[in-house]
Amino acid sequence: MPPAARQLSLFPDRVTRERVLPVLGEQGDIRYFAARARGVLNDPRTTGIDGFWSVNPYVGCAFGCAYCYARYAHRYALERALAGDPAHEELGRMARELPPWLAFERAIVVKRNAPEVLARTLRDGPERFRALTRGDQIVIGTATDPYQPAERRFRITRGILEALAQHLDLSVVIITKSPLVTRDVDVLARLARHSRVQVHVSLITVDRELARRLEPRAPTPEARLRAVRRLHEAGVRVRVNAMPVLPGITDGAEQLDALVRSVAAAGADAIVAGSLALRSTARQRYLPFIAQEFPALAARYRATYARAHTAPERYRAGLKARVRTLCEQYGLPYGSWDDDAPREMSAQARVTRPGYAPSRAARRSQ
Ligand code: SF4
Repeated sequence: MPPAARQLSLFPDRVTRERVLPVLGEQGDIRYFAARARGVLNDPRTTGIDGFWSVNPYVGCAFGCAYCYARYAHRYALERALAGDPAHEELGRMARELPPWLAFERAIVVKRNAPEVLARTLRDGPERFRALTRGDQIVIGTATDPYQPAERRFRITRGILEALAQHLDLSVVIITKSPLVTRDVDVLARLARHSRVQVHVSLITVDRELARRLEPRAPTPEARLRAVRRLHEAGVRVRVNAMPVLPGITDGAEQLDALVRSVAAAGADAIVAGSLALRSTARQRYLPFIAQEFPALAARYRATYARAHTAPERYRAGLKARVRTLCEQYGLPYGSWDDDAPREMSAQARVTRPGYAPSRAARRSQ
């Protein structure tokens, strides 16, 4: 698909055309603002991808990954919020004083009514929503992490899952870096009774210190691997997204080996890897970050991404081949899986995987 079309999918919903309410609360240096969303389900015409609908319970993300591609959308969200309430002192101050990439992490908009709006949309929506029961995918968390710290308090993502669980034959994907998703295994199990559900846990390295530099406020790799194990043991399909693999930083042979081995041992159903793409707004944050944190790589990055937003084809193909080889070695399916059969296949692969050992909870239930 053309890059422009792909970028459209990152725009937040029509949330902030309405008045942003007063500050909901704060957590350290993060401020939460409440907003009433008019719509939360972005259809394929908006996402630019056939068969792909997105839902983002929040605008902005406190995890602050250096490579995050979703930062740019936040500036528009704040501008629209301020258009609705130019006198909003706190939001105005943050928009004025913080660079947009930092406001993305510090000024989080909470779509308080998202579950009700979604429930109404699915119940009373027009014919086009029928596509959702004919195989179109609803992806939660394309431009924000739906289980970032805000979710512990506001529970918007949980409410969205509850609304989806009222319907049959949906296909739902949740993308997250947070073990908080395991809080909702009860709703996920209910949803999975009548719909297809997958959780995609993002993990690019098992090196804790490196992860802290790259994703300063995201949960540790160990916490994410524990979440993979819990989800799997709860019967939820779980895939690990090793994306974006960062050239020269997380793509070493030993690093990838450790990553695939750990993911296989945690009981994931599959893994998929993809190299870094740097479109203009991600570039504005990421290249200065590299210059500061990994100065020896700065020139290489500038040269590699000077003419294109992706790594060269040869690099991408080599990365995929390497991860596929590791997957064969550790008995872990690569990429997507067929929705019906492979659960069994991957269960078989799992028990023969080197290093796989059921957790204490699983052992108790066996
Ligand atoms: S968790 Fe995702 S949305 Fe949040 S900062 Fe990281 S890459 Fe961006």
